[in-house]
Amino acid sequence: MKKVHNFSAGPCILPQEVLKKASEAVVNFDDLNLSLIEISHRSKNVVAVMEKAQNLVRELLNVPANYEILFLQGGASLGFYTAALNYLSKDGKAVYVNTGTWAKKAIKEAKLVGNIEVVASSEDDGFKYIPKGFNIPADADFLHITTNNTIYGTQYPEIPKSPVPIIADMSSDIFSRPVNVSDYAMIYAGAQKNMGPAGTTLFIVNKDLLGKTGRTIPSMLDYQLHIDKESMYNTPPVFPIYVSMLTLDWLKNLGGVPAIEKINAEKAAAMYAEIDRNPLFVGYTAVEDRSKMNATFNLVDDTHKELFDSMWKEAGISGINGHRSVGGYRASMYNALPLESVQALVKVMQEFEEKVSV
Ligand code: PLP
Repeated sequence: MKKVHNFSAGPCILPQEVLKKASEAVVNFDDLNLSLIEISHRSKNVVAVMEKAQNLVRELLNVPANYEILFLQGGASLGFYTAALNYLSKDGKAVYVNTGTWAKKAIKEAKLVGNIEVVASSEDDGFKYIPKGFNIPADADFLHITTNNTIYGTQYPEIPKSPVPIIADMSSDIFSRPVNVSDYAMIYAGAQKNMGPAGTTLFIVNKDLLGKTGRTIPSMLDYQLHIDKESMYNTPPVFPIYVSMLTLDWLKNLGGVPAIEKINAEKAAAMYAEIDRNPLFVGYTAVEDRSKMNATFNLVDDTHKELFDSMWKEAGISGINGHRSVGGYRASMYNALPLESVQALVKVMQEFEEKVSV
């Protein structure tokens, strides 16, 4: 089978060994001669999967004891709404930073819940940078940020110093770099980038800050209820949680978040070095805010597009077309993408330069 270098923005590459174990579990889970997806979520084997997944999150991110770990459904997109529903008090306000498509959606949903103030935005320049030095009112219930902007390819180089707890959408950079969880009221992330298949969403929830909104929350949207039911209030998405557990175990065996952070830095350095060196390409974002997960770049001269596209496809590279709202190219370099794949793309960019310059 020809090797495919999978740069897809999400759902995206998962470790080969994880895919192999996951496929085996679909046929025969834990030697029960039953499939993982045909047994009760209340069986001790599945409860053990949930507990192991939660424990791995706790261990990999050093999650303090006053936080609970939930694997829910509805995607990060439902998280946009539930974040405000569970943490924004009826008479209070929350502040948001608008750094792109996903941040905008988070703002839109939160406005359905209560008083939202956008304290900074990079929309004035095509979301090419991360706003800095903005004022965060000390009377806000929380500050909401999107730590990595998957579509535009920006990432907070540092998390803002905030007088109020932060809620962060980390869908596209969770587990890629260390996180000081105690700075957050809540962290949420769809599984389908650095964790597993789409279908479950990770919520790391500060339980001390719950129950203060003064509103009645529908059961399925209520973090406290999910905590009380150990993330099994209703039938959980067992398969995505199982695959997430395998991926987190893979990450732990690799040396955890500090180890993958180093590997990710190496991949991003190689990718951006070529974008900057090669006269045929130009990076999309401000250099200081470049994402280590999603590198966005354009051809300087679009008349060469057909040639470049045929060359990367021929080299077994997949998924580097930019998001439809931005165009150009986007190389997503999530945790499971090997350095070797970045090197393959860099080689194609170099060969392309040679071809164009003759
Ligand atoms: N937030 C970010 C940063 C994303 O990249 C995405 C999807 O790509 C989402 C939210 C939406 O996630 P979901 O599809 O799980 O609702």
